[in-house]
Amino acid sequence: MSEPTRRKPGPKRGPRVDDSLVQRHQARSKIEALLRRNMGQRFREKALASLANRILAVSPAAQAILLDMYLDNDNELGHMALLVLAETPQEETLRRVDEHLDRGHLSQQDALRLMMVKTFIKDDPDQILQELSRHGDPNEVLGRMAGEMWKKLEPEEAAMLWLEQYGALEPQDRIALLSLFLEAPCRGLLGVARIEARSDNADIQRLLAERLADFPYPETVPVLEQLCQSANMGVRLAAEHSLGALRSNLPDLFSAEQRGASFGQGQFYEAYVARDPLSGQYSVIYSQKAADGSIGFCVALIDTWDQGLMDIWGNVGFSPREFHDLIESFGPASQTDDKDFRYEPAEKDFALQLLRGAEALSSLRGYELPTEMPLWSDLYAAEPAPSGPSSVAFGLQCLECGAAIRRPRSAQEKNAPLIFGDFALCGACLKRKTCCAACGKKVKRADAAIVANLDSARADLFCRDCFERSDRGAWS
Ligand SMILES: [Zn+2]
Ligand SMILES: [Zn+2]
Repeated sequence: MSEPTRRKPGPKRGPRVDDSLVQRHQARSKIEALLRRNMGQRFREKALASLANRILAVSPAAQAILLDMYLDNDNELGHMALLVLAETPQEETLRRVDEHLDRGHLSQQDALRLMMVKTFIKDDPDQILQELSRHGDPNEVLGRMAGEMWKKLEPEEAAMLWLEQYGALEPQDRIALLSLFLEAPCRGLLGVARIEARSDNADIQRLLAERLADFPYPETVPVLEQLCQSANMGVRLAAEHSLGALRSNLPDLFSAEQRGASFGQGQFYEAYVARDPLSGQYSVIYSQKAADGSIGFCVALIDTWDQGLMDIWGNVGFSPREFHDLIESFGPASQTDDKDFRYEPAEKDFALQLLRGAEALSSLRGYELPTEMPLWSDLYAAEPAPSGPSSVAFGLQCLECGAAIRRPRSAQEKNAPLIFGDFALCGACLKRKTCCAACGKKVKRADAAIVANLDSARADLFCRDCFERSDRGAWS
């Protein structure tokens, strides 16, 4: 046997076999696993965004893979792929969709599904309608596509999608879309109807009141009943007429059991509250048990000082066990975590006071409510107002001048207020305090103590000497 000859180190060689297909297969398996693991989380916009980032990191071809998965799977997996695709950079996805479309030899079904990706991720309705006109009457095409899309969604998902994509459109645009969508009755659309029934636009309400007679689902009944309370007589009459038609054709829809099965129609189940006294923030979990025993819940993040309701999200279809596991998972993960911010069981009224106080504060101070608010607030909207005064104060004000204190965006902000838990001084009042209240010496903020007197509604600056001479406690 001869010695193996030593080869000179040459230029780095690529793989002998083209393994790009293997790599793509592996990437696809990984992406599919990630999607499947996260299906239960799909209601959360932020969860979707972070999932999209993880998937983009799996392979440079991640978007192409997601698009393939969507086209290959006409089920929940395909649907999930589409939801994630909507969270990835638009241009790249649209480029790939156009590539597919330009190849031409597509079945009409596939072409339609590709166009659906476009309408789903692109926020330019005019351009979409133009493109659709290449495939026939745009309204008709959109109607068929919409039917495909809504059919796959649960009412809560449909509601979320509607709020994100179309909720901010002008009423006349929403009417145009709704009248298209409502042509093909499906359960998912009732999530949308539930939200739009509350819009104070009589034309939208009337459209719903008339069309919902063709929706043979238990979720139809509470929406029509709500429309019966409309301020507009035409709406009320149309809703009563539709309800009457449903009652004679499908009396089962009106049974207590069917009724309790739809979102927001269950019984209060449990509430949990976590509080961070240092930031004035609370988190509230409010849950309802549906007639089928499943739990629907929302999680709200609340700023009692300034912004009110900062974020709200939720989910449905949890078993009590899954729900409790989830709450467990929210707890401090380790000894070092902040033990104060831990969820404790709370009375329903306390949770309601927080949720409603937060909403009122957001409106009072001109903050926009979270997009998903109209969806999740249905869990508690029908509850009567809690009796008795709220045990939580909402809206931090300057101790001296009463001005509303805004939460500073950064610690360096000019004229930032001084916030000390329950009391605060606005930037202007704070700026005027330059001298020690006892000896009158000029004193820098950094070398002074501020002492608040809540009874006389004023705060004073003290130099270190005067502060230590008084018995106001330790200088810190
Ligand atoms: Zn002030
Ligand atoms: Zn002094």
